[in-house]
Amino acid sequence: MYNPASPSADEFIDHREVLDTLEYAARNKNNVELIDSLLEKAKPRRLGKEVHCSGLTHREASVLLACELPEKVKAMYDLAEEIKKAFYGNRIVIFAPLYLSNYCVNGCVYCPYHAKNRKIPRVKLGQEDILREVNALQDMGHKRLALECGEHPSENPIEYVLDSISTIYSVKNKNGAIRRVNVNIAATSVENYRKLRDAGIGTYILFQETYHKESYHTLHPSGPKHDYNYHTEAMDRAMQGGIDDVGLGVLFGLERYRYEFAALLMHAEHLEAAFGVGPHTISMPRIKRADDIDVNDFNNAISDGTFAKLCALVRIAVPYTGMIISTRESQDVREKVIRLGVSQISGASRTSVGGYGEEERPHDTEQFDVSDQRALDEVIKWLMDLGYIPSFCTACYREGRTGDRFMSLCKSGQIQNCCHPNALMTLKEYLMDYAKPATRKTGEKLIEREIPAIPNDKIREKIRFWLSDIENGKRDFRV
Ligand code: SAM
Repeated sequence: MYNPASPSADEFIDHREVLDTLEYAARNKNNVELIDSLLEKAKPRRLGKEVHCSGLTHREASVLLACELPEKVKAMYDLAEEIKKAFYGNRIVIFAPLYLSNYCVNGCVYCPYHAKNRKIPRVKLGQEDILREVNALQDMGHKRLALECGEHPSENPIEYVLDSISTIYSVKNKNGAIRRVNVNIAATSVENYRKLRDAGIGTYILFQETYHKESYHTLHPSGPKHDYNYHTEAMDRAMQGGIDDVGLGVLFGLERYRYEFAALLMHAEHLEAAFGVGPHTISMPRIKRADDIDVNDFNNAISDGTFAKLCALVRIAVPYTGMIISTRESQDVREKVIRLGVSQISGASRTSVGGYGEEERPHDTEQFDVSDQRALDEVIKWLMDLGYIPSFCTACYREGRTGDRFMSLCKSGQIQNCCHPNALMTLKEYLMDYAKPATRKTGEKLIEREIPAIPNDKIREKIRFWLSDIENGKRDFRV
């Protein structure tokens, strides 16, 4: 029985409800009246200084996904762009993944780290190696990392992850510092989530891979990850362990995308119903070629067009949730979907264990092929040339604005007085410490152009003051 507030995965991702949703969506895919009313419902509304967006339910959003009427699809893209501008402005947060270890006991058939892959060299970073990796990441200008790790109780126990987090936060190389560590490790216990919370992590990220239980079992034939319910209920345990910010995602290409999309939104609705706050982020990964993995073995691949539509509809359905795109996607695809509502991207990623310390990109332990292989400075310049503000901001989580406190900031319309100036200050730090001359020139102009967009007079003055402090060598200001 479908029950969004239930603690049981079988009830909050009820298979029957997903199928009924798909049937309802197929029935209404040309119902122009309904489609127009949904587009109208999802529009941002300004109430005084506040901006509100109602979002859409999984059923409503699935109707839009099923609709293929060209003018309605265009209206969806326009609306996604409007919502993105209303809540996120033109900022794009930058991060990099850091692979700690590819030892893994699971059998995930799409992942080169699966236990039966004897060809891939197994590597685990020691704390000294991590220092080297973090130095290299800081020297590029990164401030925010996502830790990645295979599941292996003896090689990668929680203590190893905790030690690694503490090592990462301890590195202060020149003006560099990692100020937020997000963690993407296998589903674990409430007690371990509490330890991660106490270690000061930002978001706990776990991809569901697929919500389709039967497929999930086939795709994860062995290892602890085989347990669908334990995996699907992980975010509940993370929240019980005190982690306010959790990040969802499915690996598109494994199952039929309409099923995944409806279930992903049901998962978001579940968190809202059970904990009063939805997911902090949704990641949008697509399956990629990798060692021992041939994408042609997976016949649910989605086109770039469908991918863009999915991104736009996530933006419309859950307007307050950040959306993440990694370097699995090419520059072209990233350019297209950033406009439609993406708020975070990775840059200059290396998906191999120990990849950042090497001069040449190593491929032997890579988790997947990286499509966008540009250096961080190129990515930053590219974003600015497209009119975006690359942001290295980590202020919210360091000011305790997590979970529902972040959501109220979002809803209160104060983002222009808060995230916007913080983005400008962290960009200024990047320009001073790491940018090439042409990037710096573009960035300085962009900052000058963007300062007047800070509505509050006092904050605007303060920012001008702090920007000149940054010019004079001081660091780490935040509103
Ligand atoms: N081991 C952790 C777990 O079990 O959740 C997560 C870390 S794993 C390094 C991060 C994610 O990479 C996985 O959740 C999966 O979605 C994704 N991934 C695995 N193989 C991939 C492939 N061939 N192409 C694209 N993404 C892949």
